[in-house]
Amino acid sequence: MNNIPILFNSWLSGCKINYSSSVDLTDFSYFKSGGKVDYILFPINQVELSECVKWLNYYKVAFKVIGETSNLIFLDDVDYGCLISTAKLSFLKYDSETQEIVAGGGTMLPQLSRFALGNSITGFEGLEGIPGSVGAAVFMNAGAYGDDVKKTLISVDVILPDGSIKKYDADDMELTYRNSIFRKESNNEIIYLCRFKGDLGDVQAIYKKMSLFHAKRHKYQEFMYPTGGSAFSGSIYRSLAKRDLIFKLISSLYYLIFYKWKLFRRESPDSRKWLNDIAVKRFDISYRVQPFSNKDMNTLVNNGHHTDEILDYIDQLKKLTLGEIPIENEIVEKF
Ligand SMILES: Cc1cc2nc3c(=O)[nH]c(=O)nc-3n(C[C@H](O)[C@H](O)[C@H](O)COP(=O)(O)OP(=O)(O)OC[C@H]3O[C@@H](n4cnc5c(N)ncnc54)[C@H](O)[C@@H]3O)c2cc1C
Repeated sequence: MNNIPILFNSWLSGCKINYSSSVDLTDFSYFKSGGKVDYILFPINQVELSECVKWLNYYKVAFKVIGETSNLIFLDDVDYGCLISTAKLSFLKYDSETQEIVAGGGTMLPQLSRFALGNSITGFEGLEGIPGSVGAAVFMNAGAYGDDVKKTLISVDVILPDGSIKKYDADDMELTYRNSIFRKESNNEIIYLCRFKGDLGDVQAIYKKMSLFHAKRHKYQEFMYPTGGSAFSGSIYRSLAKRDLIFKLISSLYYLIFYKWKLFRRESPDSRKWLNDIAVKRFDISYRVQPFSNKDMNTLVNNGHHTDEILDYIDQLKKLTLGEIPIENEIVEKF
């Protein structure tokens, strides 16, 4: 146990809040990495969430809130203390008069997006394939295919460290590309409930957009190995091309031939293995087993890797791109 006070243990075993103990994160986490975690708490409503936060702070137990863990890299050599999962804080409501959708922080983005479709509300189509929760999506202003959370978010309710509730309007959340006020290190608030408002749209048009994005995601996203999605918030290829004229020529030609002109087939290829192999050679990238997807060098895969190997690859990319692209995956250090 990670120095968890006995008094906290007795509070937890005496209360009704669901929890799991001694969880193996290689089973639990999306990227299938990490050591063990002493406790994962699963509050089912706002009262329970407030209780968890209040007592964890009262007993000075360090903790981290998690959604689906789809953006997190837990470290293999680290055992963690306590996590609060929002997985059971999942609900959706729609008010047809105001066209407002209210979503629990633990609701999955695909559910939110399909719920909007069911009510002919537009603005959520691009979120359909993101495998994360609504609360975390606000935390990092998640988005894809031209839609992001900022586009439709009106306000959120958060739980403060003492367990009380505070409301934020979207204008006060500093929502920018993959960032928000909640991502600041000094912020320790948990997003419990989110209010959105989209425009009424043509249901067939919304459906068509979602189908297109869904199919695209199946083509370009890694599905075979545990993955962390994009490691960096930007194109690794574009950044590498700035550093090497020959790679710039090769990657530009590759883009024109396979993606723009589609000379050899009507569909662009779903693997960039050939281009990746060239990048690995030209930039002297080293690894034991390839730690990225054949579909994109910016997509980490866990193919039996130790997380030190993953961190080493991230470091190599950071150096090669001169740190100009912000990291998107979050490495969860010991807390
Ligand atoms: C295959 C794949 C594809 C992806 N595609 C996209 C994409 O197209 N666009 C995109 O933007 N992202 C994408 N992602 C990244 C990820 O899914 C999103 O960042 C998502 O919003 C993370 O949600 P989560 O519930 O898994 O959060 P987690 O990974 O569990 O947590 C992420 C961060 O949010 C914090 N957090 C979680 N819940 C709350 C809360 N309720 N209140 C406050 N803080 C909270 C956590 O402490 C952590 O710091 C992808 C990931 C994968 C694996």
